[in-house]
Amino acid sequence: MEDLTEKQAAELQARLTVLRDELTALLASTLESTRPISLDEPIGRLTRMDAMQQQSMSTANRQQTDLRLRQVEQALGLARRGDYGLCRRCEDPIGYARLSARPESPYCLTCQDEIDRKTQR
Ligand SMILES: [Zn+2]
Repeated sequence: MEDLTEKQAAELQARLTVLRDELTALLASTLESTRPISLDEPIGRLTRMDAMQQQSMSTANRQQTDLRLRQVEQALGLARRGDYGLCRRCEDPIGYARLSARPESPYCLTCQDEIDRKTQR
């Protein structure tokens, strides 16, 4: 895999900065939807079930968003040290194609595959 050019690195890091702001805003705006549902709230039984289902989906989504935000922040930290674009496991370049699809990727495709296979078991 090729190292990133300076232009590619600058472009991806600019996208990371935007992504960090977007994810931070998203987390702030969805905070309300994950608050516990009060039993005293005057809503019908079905509606309460809906609300609880909605809430557990929101919580799962937030966990995803939160994880992604942490990866984005780590990638920005690496960028500041000049280590952006290198796999955190094998230290090979991750490659522009993969980073372009997901600029916060911490691992190259090979390592990500291995990690996914281990966690799926
Ligand atoms: Zn790797």
